[in-house]
Amino acid sequence: MKDANLSNRWQQWKTRLQEWWLRQNCPTEFLCDNCKYDHDSACNRPERPNAIKCPDYRPRT
Ligand code: SF4
Repeated sequence: MKDANLSNRWQQWKTRLQEWWLRQNCPTEFLCDNCKYDHDSACNRPERPNAIKCPDYRPRT
């Protein structure tokens, strides 16, 4: 039980760190404006087009 709790907290920390890093490296206010999936056929997330957190965000290159 203790290991599962620790693993869950580690996963939450990793997610928060990843979201922070993405926000630091996004030049626009909303992630979608700089995301390569920002079109109807690639993204059906409800956050689009104004996502400020998104695990699928990938910067356009
Ligand atoms: S994947 Fe996320 S960041 Fe990218 S367009 Fe969809 S909602 Fe926006």
